[in-house]
Amino acid sequence: LFGALFDAPPLARPPLVSVVSVLVPLPVPEAYSYAVPDGMAVMPGSVVQVPLGPRQVIGVVWDGEPDPRLDPKKLRPITQVFDCPPLTDEMRSFIDWVAGYTLSPPGLVARMAVRAPAALEPEPMVEALRYRGGEPERMTPARARVMDLVRDEVPFTRSGLSHAAGVSISVIDGLVKQGLFETVFLPPPPVVARPDPDYTAPRIEGPQKQAASEIVEAMQGGGFSASLIDGVTGSGKTEVYFEAIAQALRQGRQVLILLPEIALTASFLERFQDRFGAKPAEWHSDLAPRMREKVWRGVVTGEVRVVAGARSALFLPFEELGLIIVDEEHDSAYKQEDRVFYNARDMAVVRARIGQFPVVLVSATPSVESQVNGQSGRYHLVHLPTRFGEAAMPDLHLIDMRRHPPERGGFLSPVMLRAVKKTIEKGQQALLFLNRRGYAPLTLCRVCGHRFQCPQCSSWLVEHRFKGQIQCHQCGYAEKTPEACPECGTFDHLVACGPGVERIAEEVEKHFPEARTIVMSSDLLGGVKRMRLELEAIAKGEADIVIGTQLVAKGHNFPLMTLVGIIDADLGLANGDPRAAERTFQLLSQVTGRAGRTGLKSHGLLQTYQPQHPVMQAIVSGDASAFYEREIGEREKALLPPFGRLASIIVSADTRLDAETHARALRAAAPKVSGITVLGPAEAPLALVRGRHRFRLLVHGRRNSDMQGYLRSMLANGPKVRGTVHVQLDVDPQSF
Ligand code: ADP
Ligand code: ZN
Repeated sequence: LFGALFDAPPLARPPLVSVVSVLVPLPVPEAYSYAVPDGMAVMPGSVVQVPLGPRQVIGVVWDGEPDPRLDPKKLRPITQVFDCPPLTDEMRSFIDWVAGYTLSPPGLVARMAVRAPAALEPEPMVEALRYRGGEPERMTPARARVMDLVRDEVPFTRSGLSHAAGVSISVIDGLVKQGLFETVFLPPPPVVARPDPDYTAPRIEGPQKQAASEIVEAMQGGGFSASLIDGVTGSGKTEVYFEAIAQALRQGRQVLILLPEIALTASFLERFQDRFGAKPAEWHSDLAPRMREKVWRGVVTGEVRVVAGARSALFLPFEELGLIIVDEEHDSAYKQEDRVFYNARDMAVVRARIGQFPVVLVSATPSVESQVNGQSGRYHLVHLPTRFGEAAMPDLHLIDMRRHPPERGGFLSPVMLRAVKKTIEKGQQALLFLNRRGYAPLTLCRVCGHRFQCPQCSSWLVEHRFKGQIQCHQCGYAEKTPEACPECGTFDHLVACGPGVERIAEEVEKHFPEARTIVMSSDLLGGVKRMRLELEAIAKGEADIVIGTQLVAKGHNFPLMTLVGIIDADLGLANGDPRAAERTFQLLSQVTGRAGRTGLKSHGLLQTYQPQHPVMQAIVSGDASAFYEREIGEREKALLPPFGRLASIIVSADTRLDAETHARALRAAAPKVSGITVLGPAEAPLALVRGRHRFRLLVHGRRNSDMQGYLRSMLANGPKVRGTVHVQLDVDPQSF
């Protein structure tokens, strides 16, 4: 059934074995052994179906010698081998590496790379009409338009013809009835057209040209190389890495572009098309299932040459991957914290090293880790310090909220309001940024002080006034906003504390009733489609004031946006996480970078209660290098990443006692090894999530310590995992 899909018979020379190990998609430490039935040919990487208990599961034949003492007759046999190309050596090594590094069960990692090919039904042929000769019984203008198109006998689909001729379907059907056409079948259209590296000439000049030629040169020798493009927002980084992509395409290799945000890809895809004449295939969780199948198959067969995708695209089994771009490499969306905890940025570098091809990391505000790698020469560092063309960086100023407080009940300083007014009077756009969805982050009863908390998490319920709900941003729990306090029963005495974007929208509406406003946040009704439409509307100038969360912060080009106002610049600094300064710096740079992309004079205003904070000073001075130097110095002193290594162990259970007891016992089992220390257990930053109580141990090691080995022996010595207890490892955690 599936053989027709793939040209080369993949199972040409089956090795002669009767027992193989198979990775099954389960959290078990190693592959299981299965017998190979007579006449079935498998090899390492073959995708198979095997029995597991009462079920049938998809697995992958893995390397490694099965135990010779095993008697094939006593093993259960492989049920079926799928007719699709086996996972390459490269992909299998990558999966093993990721599993070993993240201490995840290899079967769970493999599951991210393998799909059940049974779902791969062959694409149906497309029915089309071909002109066979003759003339319509009676010629009309509509019929004449159709006839003009079909005379050279190129087949059209029925709807394609009606569309191209600008006539209704009934006109076509009328001609069909007269016997002018025969039905033919066309092969299914490709998922995406082939991008052409020379479709248009590169658009690079000055420092871009230098940067691009350095990267392309690094690629020429073949083999692994890692580059970091560190350039301010609007410096033309995208144009530079397009040249790396062109080079890889010329070399006949596939390309993967990782992007942190799906809403962002729409304008990116168009830009790519302008340069290469075709769009890349998309890969993210929001794809329709049918499209997923098509893209996956295209990637495996090599039909798809370029994929732009979210982090999960890193596990696509490309046939001949030859370049990975990681755009906005510092973005925390690259970290997956579910099942297999991994950072796609770091694993992209690993995949490139294993596959011996280049990887290019890109950011206006690189992570401290990548900065250090750039400075030490491990990464080839490329700098783009100024914006492209006429565009200048916005003028940035702090608003000291202690001196310019908002009016009562409001959150916008009079300084901010004046700036917004001036901006929209000029017909330009203002963005008010607050990284908080909903109306208010906390609701309480002013009579008894009751606070609305999630019943299953240690987090407050956030009011979403547009939806009339209070919601938990942790687990998604939602209920109708109550009218009375559930504790004291008093009506109409619930107060909203603090602002979310909806509340800022309300304030804006009060001050600028005439202005066209758009609120952008990831919980917009209508999902990704709606977000894309709104982003387009903003870019076209169809809004005067945009109020948004970090959804608007990333990557977009809004030509008319000349003012960016940050409502609460201190927001990310509050938690005690040592990465807080870095993250806040990155976010504020990104957001203020939305202003002034087209040469209009632009401004950024940041409302803060801590104007002396090094992050605020770094932002307004524009001196990123001083900030990084200081940040790097502090990390080095404290031996924090990348100068030391960290892992966190989260122990969760249905009761607080079980979680804490297990965490303590695990702590007691920690081996004594010089250079490695274990901190905790303490309540995890989110102590309760979905009814699970969580404790955390932090393991800190020197840079060269064997963290994985240490964690493995700690778990092996530790208590048996019982009852509802679950132990999750997070190597290189985001927060620590
Ligand atoms: P970055 O990725 O660094 O934020 P972009 O690549 O998006 O920057 O470039 C910013 C703007 O400048 C975009 O609108 C882009 O089309 C334009 N641009 C960049 N380089 C060139 C060039 N060489 N010629 C013409 N326009 C360019
Ligand atoms: Zn919750």
